[in-house]
Amino acid sequence: MAAKKYLIVGNWKMHRTARETAEALSHLAQRWSGARGVTLAICPPFTALTAAAKILSNGPIRLGAQNLHWEEEGAFTGEISSAMLRDLSVEYVIVGHSERRALFHEDGPTVAKKFAAAVTHGLKPILCVGETEAERESDEQKEIVKRQIREALRAAEAPENFTIAYEPIWAIGTGRTATAEDVQLMHGHIRNVLRECGVAADRIPILYGGSVKAANCTQLLNRPDVDGALVGGASLRNDEFLAIAGLAAELAKREEGVEQIES
Ligand code: PEP
Repeated sequence: MAAKKYLIVGNWKMHRTARETAEALSHLAQRWSGARGVTLAICPPFTALTAAAKILSNGPIRLGAQNLHWEEEGAFTGEISSAMLRDLSVEYVIVGHSERRALFHEDGPTVAKKFAAAVTHGLKPILCVGETEAERESDEQKEIVKRQIREALRAAEAPENFTIAYEPIWAIGTGRTATAEDVQLMHGHIRNVLRECGVAADRIPILYGGSVKAANCTQLLNRPDVDGALVGGASLRNDEFLAIAGLAAELAKREEGVEQIES
């Protein structure tokens, strides 16, 4: 079996101006020269993408956006297309974040159009899925996540280059984290759902998101089906984000050692 690789994505949400982004990313870029088996990506707000792209170009940290519109262009005031993101060297794009689903009324068909547009235009969508607290309490989480994935993938033709982020809504920004066992169970389920959808599931990174920080990331990343993390609040602090990246690098190194012994 190939050694596991980790993808650690920072979702800055609506934080930082272009100038603040440039400052924060300059420091981050100085302190992260890359590590085998770990990819770091940052998703700043749209208005800071140009500043971020300038600093991250030719370096190991990748650039992502937090949203996109599915049309290529047109009368869609306030929206941003895939081509506009590509033009700024954006590689990843978050799709279907629970804040967009809940606060901006993005439903399943909308998420599907965004996901398909990202795939068609060569962006790598990070599809967020996850249940509410009430849905977990009534043990519906597996059904909810299955429906969200099936709905999102429906409009995309043979998607390959995408990532799933499992983010239980009750764990986002609350300081509460799902247990590592619950996360592994859900990630295993997600891989099965992807297989049922005809996707090469073993090649799709499945990230966990929900109050991830350095103190809890090792136990989560250590689980076989957890391929990384989508980090909100903690990604706004370079020290904390780098600590998470460093712990992922340690795990990747260990995995590589195991892989060499096995082969
Ligand atoms: C997120 O917004 O995707 C997220 C996981 O936030 P936090 O890490 O702050 O819970």
